[in-house]
Parts: sequence; structure tokens; C-alpha cells
Amino acid sequence: MNVNESEELIACHECDALYKKKRALPQHSKAQCPRCGAMLYQSIATNLDRICAMTLAALITFMIAQGFPIVELDANGMTSQTTLIGAIMALWSEQMKIIAVLVFCCTILFPLTELVALLYVLMLLRTGFVPPGFNTVLRAIQFVRPWGMIEVFMLGVLVTLVKMVSIARVVPEAALFAFAALTLMVAVVVSFDPRTLWEIAERTGPRRAGRRVATTVRQKS
Ligand SMILES: [Zn+2]
Repeated sequence: MNVNESEELIACHECDALYKKKRALPQHSKAQCPRCGAMLYQSIATNLDRICAMTLAALITFMIAQGFPIVELDANGMTSQTTLIGAIMALWSEQMKIIAVLVFCCTILFPLTELVALLYVLMLLRTGFVPPGFNTVLRAIQFVRPWGMIEVFMLGVLVTLVKMVSIARVVPEAALFAFAALTLMVAVVVSFDPRTLWEIAERTGPRRAGRRVATTVRQKS
């Protein structure tokens, strides 16, 4: 019998009570803290399907948000509408290079990296594969996560809009609504703890990938 498996403990994040973690929680169920009622963990299948769908939806919304014009620029009497990336390029050419780089990273690069990486891992795990480069991808997710957080993301969009006000007008159309929707979706996606994925991978490939994943986790702690 595997000692690590039977003695895995979980702490309630509300009241710090310690419990032995039950490995196989029935589908569509949650474990709650008997003392304070806080949710300890959910059954993995529920979690995986929901978060996979939400990540896919967020990615599509992301494309809409980036693909449609969000500001209208006035230059030499000519007006032209541009997307967020166009606005960032305008910031860059207006000598606001640092702001342009920060906004690019927080509103495009980091959220896109997290969404694509998460979707890649989730899709393959759902079909029963441990994807190639699993460890690297998960580390990448955890690295970009603080920067893809919703507050940072919103701040990026807001900074662009505020900075552009002198030379541009916000277009209240598809892109703006998509950004609003994306804000909510990203909030749900980042509520998902990528550490759960180690656990799923451990079950998915108990012989090959699972052992590799388990040793990596132990080395890290
Ligand atoms: Zn509790």
C-alpha cells in the first residue's frame, strides 16, 4: 500500500482544521469542512469539464475582444478605428513605450499564454493523455498567473483607454462588451488551481507520466 496516498492531508483554508483527503470523491460532489462549512475540494471531473469549457469560451471572447476596434483615433483630421493592439502601438509611437509594453504583457501576452496553455493541458488530460511537456507548461501557467490576474488585466485595459482619451475616443461596441465578459470569464478561470492538474496526471498515467510528475512535486517541496 502506498503510504503517501493514504496519509495525504488537506487543511481547511478558513479555519485551518486538518483532514485526511479522500482520493476518490464521487462525481459532481464537494468535500466540505464539517467545522466551518467551507469547501475543501471538488470532485475532479466536475472541475475539469467546467473549467475546460470556460477556458475555451474565454479564448473565443479574447479573440473577439482583440479583433474588434475599441478606440477611434483622430490624426490629421482623419478618424480611424483601431483594436487594443493598435492602441498599444499608438501608445508606443506617442513616446509612452513603458506603458505600451506593460499593457501589452498584461492584456495580451500573459492572459493569452495562460489560456492557451491551460486549454492545451486540459484538452489532453480529458482524453486521458498526459500531454508532452506537462511539467513545463504547468510551471509556465504558474509563472504568468500573477500577471494575468483580473485586476492587472482590467488595469491594463483602463490605462490604455485613459491614456488614449486625449487622442482617441472609446468605441462602445463589440470589443468593449467582449472585454467586460472576458473579465468575468478570466475571474472564473483563475479560480481554478492548476495544482489539481498534477493530481489528475498522476491518475491518468500511473505507470509512466504519473511517477515522473510525483517525483517532480516531491523535489520541489
Ligand atoms: Zn473549516
